[in-house]
Amino acid sequence: MFPSRFRYEAPHSLDEAIGLLHDGGDYAKVLAGGQSLVPMMKLRFASPEMIVDINNLPDLAYHRADPDGSLRIGALCRHADLEFSNLLKTTQPTMAAAAPLVADPLVRNRGTLVGSLCHADPQGDWASVMLALGGTVIAQGPRGRRAIPVAEFVTGPFETVLEHDEIAVEAVVPPAIGVRSGGYLKLERRVGDFATVGVAVAIETSGTTVIRAGIALTGVGGSTIGATDAAAALTGKPLTADSIAEAAGLAAGVAQPRTDHRGSAEYKRHLVRVFISRILGGTIAATTATAERAA
Ligand SMILES: Cc1cc2nc3c(=O)[nH]c(=O)nc-3n(C[C@H](O)[C@H](O)[C@H](O)COP(=O)(O)OP(=O)(O)OC[C@H]3O[C@@H](n4cnc5c(N)ncnc54)[C@H](O)[C@@H]3O)c2cc1C
Repeated sequence: MFPSRFRYEAPHSLDEAIGLLHDGGDYAKVLAGGQSLVPMMKLRFASPEMIVDINNLPDLAYHRADPDGSLRIGALCRHADLEFSNLLKTTQPTMAAAAPLVADPLVRNRGTLVGSLCHADPQGDWASVMLALGGTVIAQGPRGRRAIPVAEFVTGPFETVLEHDEIAVEAVVPPAIGVRSGGYLKLERRVGDFATVGVAVAIETSGTTVIRAGIALTGVGGSTIGATDAAAALTGKPLTADSIAEAAGLAAGVAQPRTDHRGSAEYKRHLVRVFISRILGGTIAATTATAERAA
């Protein structure tokens, strides 16, 4: 299928891009990697009258650590940049685990993490990862910049709090307060597919005590689900088989899966429990070894 007719703009400055979005009203859309927007337009699920292509704004193509340890991911940082990032491999285990599981190599070469957050697909992998990490989206519009916690960014399937004339310029992961561990596991029907079930776990420990935890679920509800009670059940104590079982049970309890051609609701809920147990089971061994080395 062909998309409806649209006006195409490719501005060379952020201010110009924001101005175009402002003038275009609800009928203008940002184009980043195009890996979700273009298919939606070709299927006529989206028919924007104006496309504001931000690919001429190379200043947005970065990911870097600030001196305080915050990780900043610009709006043109591609999935592939994150997949092959040494910075992620050494400092962000949850993100490093997720990056190679997003779509396929072709999509990863163009698609962006920030675009994935803005698209707000309940099956998008990055939203869970960023939610588990306590991330923030920085939006810029005619009224200035604002920071929006990922937990408040998505309001429903394919809906966010972004105003029509705002551009999400970057996503930010806060600095670690302990030793980071965690992971991302995803069941997909075939490699490169969207998640039937995805689970993001981010843990920070001091010695063997968990001092910060985040757990979020992909594909098992109308939007990304933050399993806050499950994360709280891990915090303030060492990871044990009991605390892991409690967290896995609590997370499975907040999942809202639906039975479909990919599996029954009960099967998907079971997978949430299994994935959390697997990620945290691996984490116990790693945190114990790190604590022993430090002692
Ligand atoms: C075959 C295929 C398989 C896929 N599999 C997966 C998968 O397994 N897991 C997964 O998570 N995703 C998957 N995707 C989606 C992919 O990750 C997209 O790259 C991502 O969802 C959107 O990023 P983008 O940069 O391509 O955004 P675009 O397609 O350019 O935009 C998507 C939406 O976000 C808005 N937007 C984008 N950037 C900004 C911004 N900076 N500010 C404001 N609004 C913005 C656009 O206006 C549009 O509404 C798949 C896509 C395809 C085509």
